[in-house]
This record gives sequence, structure tokens and C-alpha cells, in this order.
Amino acid sequence: MRKILIFALLFVTAPAWAEKYGLVLHGGAGTITRAKLTDKQESELRAKLAEARDAGYKVLEQGGSSLQAVTTAIIILEDSPLFNAGKGAVYTFDGAHELDASIMDGSNRKAGAVAGVKTVRNPILAAQAVMNQSDHVMLAGTGADAFARHVGLPQVENSYFDTEFRLKQLEQAKQKIEDEGTSFNITDSDYKYGTVGVAALDKQGNLAAGTSTGGMTAKRWGRVGDSPIIGAGTWADNNSCAVSATGHGEYFIRYHVAADICSRKLYRDLPLTTAAREVIHDVLLPAGGTGGIVAMDRAGNIAMEFNTEGMYRAWRLSDNSAGVAIYSDQEEAP
Ligand code: ASP
Repeated sequence: MRKILIFALLFVTAPAWAEKYGLVLHGGAGTITRAKLTDKQESELRAKLAEARDAGYKVLEQGGSSLQAVTTAIIILEDSPLFNAGKGAVYTFDGAHELDASIMDGSNRKAGAVAGVKTVRNPILAAQAVMNQSDHVMLAGTGADAFARHVGLPQVENSYFDTEFRLKQLEQAKQKIEDEGTSFNITDSDYKYGTVGVAALDKQGNLAAGTSTGGMTAKRWGRVGDSPIIGAGTWADNNSCAVSATGHGEYFIRYHVAADICSRKLYRDLPLTTAAREVIHDVLLPAGGTGGIVAMDRAGNIAMEFNTEGMYRAWRLSDNSAGVAIYSDQEEAP
């Protein structure tokens, strides 16, 4: 009788999330319209998003952690010249690349971030190393690169991140600065979209999130956006949700976007999509902030909210739902 009771108790209290797992990722948000992408560009982007998604999913399927799934997917996007992260990152005003990344473990709220790194090949791995191999949460600039070297992460020349496409964007941005007489205000999303980020839930029920970016074209003076700021661009807590953001970083920092979504969900017991919608559409947009997020909760719900024309995104869950999408007017099949 006691055995039956214990079994019944276990059954009743067994966590609903134990079996469901999966991930959702973004490759940046902005004025992404059909008119702006050729068929070839679109199919290359879709294929790379699906490749990163499936590689991350495989980690989860094989019992790996959500953190491993996040880094696996992000490394693929960082190594691709198609996105504004790692290879293919945008240029600073001075014609270099300064990269930002962060990662957070929802099981214990450990986090790591790097800002303004120039020589570590995969900034997301540097962020992970800060989390696992230092007493700190964020390292910046040459010190962060030195730390990455110290822990043995592959280094590259800054020119490794160069691409023709981003160089043209820098030239256009500088022209715009000259024409309009502005010194820094390159907020037009045409000049930077392509940040990458992932939120994942593993079979053990642990959430994680990570984000990586080159920031904004023609940025100066050591400008750092939201992507490496825990709570703004990245957040993960098993009690609420995991979020990775993309968009106009200054607004995402001031409105604490990633953590605000999870707080709303936690404190008001809101569905994940409602919490995400509130922040992206009702708070951020009226304030003038453009961009979007991907998010996941412990029950395996995902959210992909954005207030721009498009957001590169992909998802795959253990209930067999999967997809890749770009524009706001459609939800495409796998
Ligand atoms: N959030 C990034 C930044 O402000 C850029 C982006 O996501 O497009 O640096």
C-alpha cells in the first residue's frame, strides 16, 4: 500500500517538462523584406538557420545540456559570413570588428559575457569560459581577448571577420554620417541586422540562452550594446524562462528586455508569448526601440516576437514541430 502511495505521489508530482525539450533561435531582426533578399540569399540563410537549429537539437536529443545546444548552434552561426556575429560581423567606424557575446545557465543563474573582443574566433566560447573558468560575469576589450587566449580558445587576426558585404555597409554608413552630420547615430537596422541567439530546454529540464553579435555598423568609442548584458540581451532562469534578444541595443538595455519578459511571466503567471508580446510591442515599440526576441520556458513553450518587418528565426521541439521563418506575414514549414 505504501509503495502504491509513493508511486501515485511521484506520478502526480512528476514535472510536466521532463520529457519535452527543444530550442528556438534567431539570426537578427530588422527591415528584412522580400524585396531586400534575392532567392539565393534567402535559401542560403534558411539553410544555415536550419543547420544551426538541427545541430543544437541533436545535442539535446542525445541528452546533452541546453548550454551545449546553445553554444553548438551559435558557433555555426558565428562561423557563417551570413550573420553579424563572428565571421561576417559588422565594422566599427575605424574599420575593425569588436564582438560581444553572453551566455546564461538557467539551472543556477551563472552567466558569462565578453564585450569588444577582437581576436577570439568564437566569442560565445569566450563568454562560456568567463562563466566556467573565472570568478567574473563580464570581461571587456583586450583583457577579455587575453583571457580567451589564456584558457586556450582559438585566436584569429581581426581581419578574419572581414566580408565585402559588411565593408560596403560601413562605407554607406559613413556616407550617411557625413551627409546627415551625425556622429554616431547609426540606428537604421539596415546597417547591422544579423545578431544571433538561442534559447534552449534540455531533457533534464534546464533552460539556457546565449547571444552573439558584432554590434552596430560604424560604432565608435567602445560602444557596447545589449547582447553581452545579462538581463538585457540574454537571460535564463529555470523558474521563469530563457530569452535571447536582437535589436537596437540601447533600448534593450534601458528596458531590460530579456529579464523583464521572464519577470512578467513569473510574477504575473503569464503565458510566455503574452509576456514577450507585452514587452516587445507595448513597452519597447512606443519607446522607440525596434527588434525582437526568441524565448523558451520550462514547459517547452516558445515565443518569437518582433516589432520589425522580419526576424530570421528557427525552432525545433521534441513534439516534432519545427520551422524556419523570416518575414512577419507567414509561418513557414520546416
Ligand atoms: N542588439 C545588437 C546591438 O545593439 C544589434 C542587433 O541585435 O542587431 O549591439
